[in-house]
Amino acid sequence: MAIETINPATGETLKSFEPMTDRQVAQQLSRAATGFEELRRSSYQQRSQWLRAAADILDAETDSVARMMTTEMGKTLVAARAEVGKCAAACRFYAEHGAAFLADEPADAPAVGARRAYARYEPLGPVLAIMPWNFPLWQAMRFAAPALMAGNPGLLKHASNVPQTALYLADLFARAGFPDGAFSTLLIGSDAVPRVLRDDRVRAATLTGSEAAGRAVAAIAGEQLKKTVLELGGSDPFVVMPSADIAAAAAAATTSRCLNNGQSCISAKRFLVHREVYDEFTDAFVAAMAAQVLDDPMAETSDVGPLATASGRDEVEEQVRDAVLHGARVRCGGDRPNRPGWWYPPTVVTDLTPQMRMWSEEVFGPVAGVFQVDSYADAVALANDTPFGLGANAWTADPAEQESFVQDLAAGLVFINGIVTSHPQLPFGGIKNSGYGRELSAHGIREFCNLKTVWMA
Ligand code: NAP
Repeated sequence: MAIETINPATGETLKSFEPMTDRQVAQQLSRAATGFEELRRSSYQQRSQWLRAAADILDAETDSVARMMTTEMGKTLVAARAEVGKCAAACRFYAEHGAAFLADEPADAPAVGARRAYARYEPLGPVLAIMPWNFPLWQAMRFAAPALMAGNPGLLKHASNVPQTALYLADLFARAGFPDGAFSTLLIGSDAVPRVLRDDRVRAATLTGSEAAGRAVAAIAGEQLKKTVLELGGSDPFVVMPSADIAAAAAAATTSRCLNNGQSCISAKRFLVHREVYDEFTDAFVAAMAAQVLDDPMAETSDVGPLATASGRDEVEEQVRDAVLHGARVRCGGDRPNRPGWWYPPTVVTDLTPQMRMWSEEVFGPVAGVFQVDSYADAVALANDTPFGLGANAWTADPAEQESFVQDLAAGLVFINGIVTSHPQLPFGGIKNSGYGRELSAHGIREFCNLKTVWMA
């Protein structure tokens, strides 16, 4: 894949970049190794100051950074500004709490025959971060803020269609004051990843992206005995039970499915609705999806912009076409607008059956599949009948049913009567083919640490 900025709203190529040569990559790895020595010896207080400085720069540059992201991958400008704000908040969160998350953990010294015994968190070293384009600043920051606070240099291999955002991130951390080599961007294609991952200077890897990329990276990391965190795809269920507030559920369903032009790993993608409220919910949902404004992502009034890539748009279109061919019903949307760029409208599809691709595949665009279920047991069985296990939503006013969903839904995140979202305060990650490991919260910052046991006589 060429490394270039192509505006998805027009299809126009705006800027192309030469991939780094092996020699240039080697220089970045050396800088990371040297930077690690300085970073690991810096105090938590110092790292907090650098992270706060990064947050202040983000606040000051919100509009220009947001415009860059909208130009590179088509999210609405309104959403892009919110993403910049979320990144600044994550920097401040780890600046404030990182030291406490990584504080020494005292042990019962007399019980182990010691004068003093404890466990301490130490950084592992440079971590390769392979990131996707859908939240080009946030996905990278979700890794970078805790990694830098823990003392691990970041080596970012970003998606090939967001090179300007990738370069901005390295510049941001340099201007915030982090030592040289603390955070670098490698402008490389995915074909160069295996060589980087096999380099001894790289101590671990994190990947957010597709299942296929996750398998490829985890296989090499396994052979190299390097730790990985994988945040992969999802096909999150959104269950609506008879006691739910149907109007609120339909509005939330629309927001969740259209978030980021339908390209979010934790968007609700399969809507499982109890037969008693199926017509009421589906009618309200279809009306709300049809009312979404699909237009220029730079316009403040747009709800949904184009898909990020031509291939992504073609794939979504093909998944809907396959469903229709096998008897599904399109309740709204379904037709690609006739304009340059990679547009696909908010779409609701019903009458799905297991032989359709949409039944089991992730749909990475603003397309919802609505399924009718007869009971709680039916809902849970269908919700869990997926290779993925990232997030899950359930809508019910019944407290006992809420507790049952929490226990029975097979997912890394369960949200009751609310949309699945990521928060720096909460662990984030999946099970099954959605990956393993956790980002954010205290758990995320500890993923790339050596928990060193110390015993002193
Ligand atoms: P992708 O093709 O897997 O790309 C993600 C990153 O991996 C890019 O930097 C890409 O580089 C790189 N990559 C691709 N194949 C690789 C390989 N064989 N070896 C090493 N690196 C490789 O993902 P995408 O289709 O752009 O993104 C959408 C997917 O990401 C969806 O499945 C979505 O659900 C998932 N996602 C998950 C989360 C989460 O937190 N769980 C968050 C966001 C997205 P190039 O761009 O150079 O190909």
